[in-house]
Parts: sequence; C-alpha cells; structure tokens
Amino acid sequence: MNAQATAELTIDLGALVANYGLLQRLARPAQAGAAIKADAYGLGAERAAPALLEAGCRQFFVAILSEAIALRPIVPEAAIHVLSGPTGGDEAAFLRHRLVPVLNSPHQIALWSRWCAANGASPAALHIDTGMSRLGLAPAELDRLVADPAPLTAFPVPLVMSHLASADAPQSPQNAQQLAAFRSALDRLLPLLPDRPAISFANSSGIFLGRDYAFDLVRPGAALYGVNPTPAAPNPMRQVIGLKARILQVRHIDAHQAVGYGAAHRSTRATSLATLGLGYADGMFRALSHAGAAFVGGIRAPFVGRVSMDLITIDVGHVPAHLVQPGAWVEILGEHQSADELAEAAGTIGYEVLTALGSRYQRRYIPAA
Ligand SMILES: *Cc1c(COP(=O)(O)O)cnc(C)c1O
Repeated sequence: MNAQATAELTIDLGALVANYGLLQRLARPAQAGAAIKADAYGLGAERAAPALLEAGCRQFFVAILSEAIALRPIVPEAAIHVLSGPTGGDEAAFLRHRLVPVLNSPHQIALWSRWCAANGASPAALHIDTGMSRLGLAPAELDRLVADPAPLTAFPVPLVMSHLASADAPQSPQNAQQLAAFRSALDRLLPLLPDRPAISFANSSGIFLGRDYAFDLVRPGAALYGVNPTPAAPNPMRQVIGLKARILQVRHIDAHQAVGYGAAHRSTRATSLATLGLGYADGMFRALSHAGAAFVGGIRAPFVGRVSMDLITIDVGHVPAHLVQPGAWVEILGEHQSADELAEAAGTIGYEVLTALGSRYQRRYIPAA
C-alpha cells in the first residue's frame, strides 16, 4: 500500500463474479458472455477477464483489435470477438491471435471473404442492424447479401448478432420492433449458412427484457460492473467499485470568500472546506462542479466551486470536526453513492463514469473468494 496515494479505487472481483452469476442465471439456457471493451469499462480487463473466465465466461467482446490482442494471453482459450471488425490490412492479426472479427458492413464482408479466399477460411461473426443505424448490415444491405450470398461461402460464421437501442427502457416499443426485425433477418440469413450459428442479441438491460431476447448468447457489460440495467427499478447488481479520496487540506472560510477557479462559489456563511486530491483528470467531470458530493463519515458534503484537474473542494461546515482531518478518507463511490448516482449529478450515465475513471488512482483489487 502506497502511503502517498491521495485517492484509491477498489474493484471487488467477488461482486463482479456474483454479477456474472446472476446474469448467467437470468439468461439460462443461453450462455452469458462479457463485454470487456474499454479495459472492462475502466475497471481493468487484466483482472476482470480472469475472474470472469473463472466464473465460467467463455465469450468475450471488445471494441477494437488492440484490446483483443492485449486480452488474448489473459484468456488463452476463450473466444474473443472484435466488435469494430477488420479495417483492411489487419486481417492477419485476427488470425494470428485467434480473434473473431464482427463483420458489420458489405465492405467488411468483402474484405474478409477476399482475405479468406487467398489465405484460408477463418471464422467471422455477422452483425445485423435492427434499429441502431450505427454498425451492422442495414436492411437493404441484408437484402443484397441474401440475393447474392457468395461472399458467405468463404468463411464459417459461428455467431450472428444484433444490438438493442432501448433495452434500458422496457416500455419502449423499439424493443419488440427490433426483436421482430432480428427474427425476420435470421429467417432469411440462417438458411444461407451451412452450420447454424449462435445467435446473440441482449446487452445487460436486454437480459431483463425476458427469455425472448436471450437467444443463445447474451453480451452484458455495464451490469457486470455494477451499473443498474433496470434504471426504473432498484439495482439488482452488486456494486463493484469503490472510490475514496484523502483530505489534503482543511480551510475555514469567511462568508462571501471566493472558492476555486473563476471565484465561481462564494459561501453565504462562514464554513469549513476540505480539499480532495482528485479532479477531472481522474474522471470527476467538471460538470460535477456545484453538483457532485462526497460522503464524510456517511454525511453528504457537496462539491463547492469548480472541479479542477487534480482537486475538488467540498463543504464540510456541518461535519463533525474529528472526521475532517488532513489525511482522512472520504467516500466518492461506495455505500452512500453509486456510479449511477454520481453520473446523474454530472448529467451523464454510469457507463461514462466508469470508463472515465483515470489512470492515477491507486487500485486495489479484492479477489473473488
Ligand atoms: C457495449 C456493448 C455491449 C454491452 O452493453 P451493456 O449495455 O454495457 O451491457 C453489448 N453488445 C455490443 C455490441 C456492445 O457494443
């Protein structure tokens, strides 16, 4: 333990494993994979992936090739899917590291089939767009592929997937529309494939839409890491991360005394402030200025003044003085505040809070039992 640390991020791998277990049970008989892109949503793929593997996860999804290459030695036998697919010229790297590209467009299908024709067949997944207009074959592109499926004969297709846009809003009619679109796409595509692929549709929130959405393989990310997949209801997931920061300095200020950059805060009363050693460079968004809070001995202490790069000031005028000492720890994320709650104060979502966590924290991993 480095005594100099000003902020410590705790990652509870036992909670991660428990969350995987819950999602796996809910998805049954589908398998649960894991979206582990962006360094396991900021938690550290190097530690999260082995814990998930140990919990039974055999299918991993990352966004880009370099993430997959880094993940390969950590989960040597598991399937690793690269959601962004090949960009052209990088096909050999997929093969070398036994990675499965997700082919999202006619262009990527053409790249992969040409490369396989010259170098030997290597598996690739297909992504059908059912309503995101982001990645995946658009309806007209699927029509053309069905009319001329020749490129699909060059390689095996172990997985066909689509992605939900509104799964966190169970009442949204888009969910059923996407499900219907996916089913009709599968009806047309599957007869063209010699072997039945695994079918994958649901992200974290999609798992909570029910069995119809689970197909063969679900792809949770955020819920594994503790983000609430059912925002309108209590969070069924365990919290995985905790974040605490040390008080660097305590000050007593007069009424109307300026605090921080731009003198953006002036207290209406004399009070005490504590300065914490973390800031927007650590993922404490500047939008949390005048909006976020820390918890000192369980007592809410609001951020006052602007969040700066490395420092935040909190008002502790109402907190018993013995709790407000230089070197004392205060909670940012934990028992009193989830990533979703901090996100709300910043006008964003828990996903962004997690993935924005900086690299400066002292990290402590609690091993899964
Ligand atoms: C990120 C991602 C997931 C995981 O989504 P969560 O909402 O974090 O569960 C699943 N599928 C795709 C295609 C993704 O990009």
